[in-house]
Amino acid sequence: MQTQYVVIFFFFIYQTRHRTASSGTISPTLSDAEDLSASPTLGDADDSSESRSIVPYSLKSVDALLSLSKTATLDDLHDMVDKCKKMVLETVECTEERKWLVRRLIELRLRAQEIRESTDSKLLETQVISGHHLVPQKYQIPSAGPTYCDHCSGAIWVMLQSWYICSDCGYSCHWKCLADIRRICAHVVASEAGGYTFTKDICPEKGLSAQRYKCAECHTKISFANPKGLSLSCIGSPFRQAESSWIEPRLCDYTGLYFCQRCHWNTLEVIPARVIRNWDMETRKVSRYAAQLLGLLNKRPVLLLEDLNKKLFSLVPDLSLLKKLREELQMMKKYLVFCPDADAKGLPWRIGLRTHMLESSANYSIKDLVDLQSGILMEEIRQAYDAMRSHITESCELCHARGHLCEICGNNEVIFPWNASAVFCQKCNTVYHRVCWSKRNHCCPKCSRIKKRLAKKDEESDINNIS
Ligand SMILES: [Zn+2]
Ligand SMILES: [Zn+2]
Ligand SMILES: [Zn+2]
Ligand SMILES: [Zn+2]
Ligand SMILES: [Zn+2]
Ligand SMILES: [Zn+2]
Repeated sequence: MQTQYVVIFFFFIYQTRHRTASSGTISPTLSDAEDLSASPTLGDADDSSESRSIVPYSLKSVDALLSLSKTATLDDLHDMVDKCKKMVLETVECTEERKWLVRRLIELRLRAQEIRESTDSKLLETQVISGHHLVPQKYQIPSAGPTYCDHCSGAIWVMLQSWYICSDCGYSCHWKCLADIRRICAHVVASEAGGYTFTKDICPEKGLSAQRYKCAECHTKISFANPKGLSLSCIGSPFRQAESSWIEPRLCDYTGLYFCQRCHWNTLEVIPARVIRNWDMETRKVSRYAAQLLGLLNKRPVLLLEDLNKKLFSLVPDLSLLKKLREELQMMKKYLVFCPDADAKGLPWRIGLRTHMLESSANYSIKDLVDLQSGILMEEIRQAYDAMRSHITESCELCHARGHLCEICGNNEVIFPWNASAVFCQKCNTVYHRVCWSKRNHCCPKCSRIKKRLAKKDEESDINNIS
């Protein structure tokens, strides 16, 4: 118990200190007015065992009132938690009294948690709600820093509270918020749409009136107008904003819809429609729903870019170069998949190139395009390209033997379809010198032979039919 307490308390301090410094995602306006966690002074609590064990003189009577006795029921503990929370708020910041009360509050909650877990067997089962597969988390510290509830936007005290995370989309929530989940799992939405739900229109905003001045997800009333003349700075947490019946709408750049602060945490994401239309990789603020969907699809090659915006390939030189290199990789792949030596060297699949680059030349993920812009992808492609090409043309006899000789000029130079000096017939894939091909007016000798043979066959069968 002692060790557990120390670990929990350490994490408590960790979370309190980190809540203002989350990166990438601008932290939600933290809302636990009812939760002690909202108190800004808690980060200063110290964990010296000396101060932990001593009950401040003024709290001697409270020690018995907030008893940690093993006989306390869950209801007793909930009452005590409420009382303790009130007392904390009544004490002066940074005093020994407040520190002691905060620690007692943590212990009371932990005790309540233990009782709940021992009585509710469902608590430790995976829950399927709105398409999410919510897996229970127990005392697990996420590597990505503090965790917030996707339902209520409050901090999740991962060492103290039962909480769940969706194994498909990463939706996280408190145990107490499970029953109120509204958002459909982004994984389900993406599967039904076959990828992104918007790729054509940039921020397709319809306006607040079209949403009846309600949050697009939870239907809380939102408005730019401030009926009571209160300023945001004096209002503070979203809970208090709700009391004043004024919640400022936040526009989601992906969906073009307005959300309340609980459903929109100002998360910054690259917007697919902006990349596809304008080659604009800048991040924009999006709702939680959009952030989960975009996060889920970021690496998935679901964009058929040429169908979506063909002009992009003439406007972005790197993109047309990438397309050409991918097409050449497809050609090399046909050699390598039949070579045991190549397979032993991990060619072509296990050389660190994202697989879809080899599978086809038409599909892209948003990450591909962002990485192309930054130069990362081109480096990755070049390395794979060089490894594959040098195996076929230089180091492997078997692959090299599968090269072509130009039938038009009869020269004994071995050529491959990806050579700059070569060209291949789109119908029969036979390879010729580019110069020879031009001289023949782009007419393939092999295809002409096949054509003649077929014509002859047809003629013969016609004669047979007549006779
Ligand atoms: Zn989910
Ligand atoms: Zn919650
Ligand atoms: Zn909302
Ligand atoms: Zn080979
Ligand atoms: Zn030739
Ligand atoms: Zn041909």
